[in-house]
Amino acid sequence: MKRDPLFQRVAIIGIGLIGSSLARVIRQRGLAQEIVGFDAAPEVRLRAEELGLCDHIVDKVADAVAGADLVMLCVPVGANAEVAQAMAPGLSPGAIVSDVGSVKLAVIRDVGPWIPEGVHFIPGHPIAGTEHSGPDAGFADLFENRYAILTPPPATDARALDKLRALWEAAGSFVEVMDARHHDKVLAITSHLPHLIAYTIVGTAFDLESSERQEVIRYSAGGFRDFTRIAGSDPVMWRDVFLNNREAVLEMLQRFNEDLMALQRAIRWGEGQTLEDLFRRTREIRRGVIEMRQAGTFDAREPEKTRAPAQDAEKSAQADADKGG
Ligand code: NAP
Repeated sequence: MKRDPLFQRVAIIGIGLIGSSLARVIRQRGLAQEIVGFDAAPEVRLRAEELGLCDHIVDKVADAVAGADLVMLCVPVGANAEVAQAMAPGLSPGAIVSDVGSVKLAVIRDVGPWIPEGVHFIPGHPIAGTEHSGPDAGFADLFENRYAILTPPPATDARALDKLRALWEAAGSFVEVMDARHHDKVLAITSHLPHLIAYTIVGTAFDLESSERQEVIRYSAGGFRDFTRIAGSDPVMWRDVFLNNREAVLEMLQRFNEDLMALQRAIRWGEGQTLEDLFRRTREIRRGVIEMRQAGTFDAREPEKTRAPAQDAEKSAQADADKGG
């Protein structure tokens, strides 16, 4: 028996990697009667039309949200305030407004004040993505076997929360509910700092003398390659992440700098045991990540890495450890 869709009309604001992936999975799994899309960029709207991602593409955000029972904000974090202000007059009573931003306190600060009485605002963040951007980069399986974190404010309507949870679960995600401040702190170390390190190391390599720079690119398999993948991520998205999660990132950066100094000292004084102890601990952590099936690329179109069965965890941990380095 065919089930009724979860939502009547879903408005997707920002049809890039995440927005287009959501549109695709909602369409593929029949989660909404109708999908309406809006993006600030005319060329993105055109491309979304060509790809047939939504039932309608509109050129005003207020038109997109009119009559929607779910509005998903999928724009860079810094664009949320402007979008929220523009959409507010068009929101329908009882609608759910959510987002996918990588930072949560700033989204609550920027969007919260624009949400009218009777509309449910439940921020969220899928821990899924790739280094690619735009509507062509999205795919329906992006959220499969990944976590989706929801950070509902204290008095959130339980039914609205259940509906949003059901959407992410239907998209293949494991849903966790978390306090927004805690989210920002955890993500600062698991995602934001690693990106900052990748941006730094690739920039440092680029600043080398030109002959050395050529060699960095030629021999990039020696660990550098993985940093270039991360450092290839969207510049606007990541600019906004650092500007909007300043406090947590600076705290983690300070801890990181202290640990880096300790390693520098160990290398200087030839303290091999200190180095080996750390590397053994981190290898264990890597194995834990694999066992939780969160290893490999976030691109679910690369099946054997992303979906490595648990019994293969040991094998793939070894394969990863054996990579050049
Ligand atoms: P993306 O591919 O660059 O898509 C964002 C889209 O939003 C672009 O088409 C952009 O247009 C459009 N946009 C910008 N400002 C807008 C505005 N004021 N009104 C309407 N549309 C606007 O980025 P994404 O990777 O999907 O990221 C979207 C959100 O998801 C971000 O908040 C990010 O933090 C979060 N997120 C990303 C990942 C990831 O791995 N990429 C993972 C989890 C969460 P232009 O092309 O003109 O800028």
